[in-house]
Amino acid sequence: MSLTVAFIGLGHMGAPMAANLVRAGHRVRGHDLVPEALESAVRAGVEPAADAASAVADADVVVSMLPAGRHVLGLYGTVLAAARPGTLFVDCSTIDVTDARTAHERAAAAGMRSLDAPVSGGVVGAEAGTLTFMAGGGEAEFAEARPLLEAMGKKAVHCGGAGAGQAAKICNNMILGVSMIAVSEAFVLGERLGLSHQALYDVASTASGQCWALSVNCPVPGPVPGSPANRDYRPGFAASLMAKDLGLAARAARDSGVDTGLGLAAARLYEEYAEHVGATEDFSGIVRTIRDRGTR
Ligand code: NAD
Repeated sequence: MSLTVAFIGLGHMGAPMAANLVRAGHRVRGHDLVPEALESAVRAGVEPAADAASAVADADVVVSMLPAGRHVLGLYGTVLAAARPGTLFVDCSTIDVTDARTAHERAAAAGMRSLDAPVSGGVVGAEAGTLTFMAGGGEAEFAEARPLLEAMGKKAVHCGGAGAGQAAKICNNMILGVSMIAVSEAFVLGERLGLSHQALYDVASTASGQCWALSVNCPVPGPVPGSPANRDYRPGFAASLMAKDLGLAARAARDSGVDTGLGLAAARLYEEYAEHVGATEDFSGIVRTIRDRGTR
């Protein structure tokens, strides 16, 4: 069934996601504050809207892909009153769990329905239509959004009620951030002990140290030819985004009273790395910071 979709936020992720909705036969009305972003989406078949309120006015579904929670809450503040009652709002941005729950509450108070549906897969996945969506909200809303999510991705998981998609996203990325640091520390320690990268890889990738950070996104060049380490740490998954996601995890842990000692340490290391060295590098480049921090 062809739907009318308002798409707000046509940046690195939003533009290719909106293009995939057009390709799947949906009518997409787009808006972005940056004219160049809107223009590139228009070239892919998105109809331009002068502002967010006019984009949502006749939409069946509103999809947003914005930088942070304050942008999503700001958007909802301006468009909830402009949409038709019962319109489904699907926010795909990665935002604070608390902000996501607030967005759901505000949507419901305005007579709208909503999902939080952050993604993993990056720009490459957005372009190829192979993203994974993690959704929070009602069963009926998830079922209704599913055809759109499947036009933009290869997998959509309903994780639970309001905010559950954001919770799944930051918990997964906390595992990833911590495990990348553990793998990087092991390689640097191995170097100092005279162990070759290949030897450590051959053992750990088939033993209990096996994990995605080692066997797919290996932080040292050589053992996994396709990993960003082999192309001077071009992303991949940018360190600045890992720093952002670990910051969201740290805030959620504090708000929930959970002691995520390793998650907090990883958040600090990634913040420092993204600020001083590698904001736009792949997050596996943290191995160089760890190497440089050694005392001998
Ligand atoms: P981006 O900065 O490229 O795009 C965001 C766009 O939103 C910009 O074009 C900006 O102008 C626009 N915008 C901001 N406020 C707006 C408003 N009120 N109305 C209309 N447009 C507005 O960011 P991105 O890389 O596309 O990321 C978007 C979201 O996806 C973020 O939450 C990010 O954490 C998440 N994410 C990104 C990646 C990635 O690899 N880039 C991967 C997974 C998740």
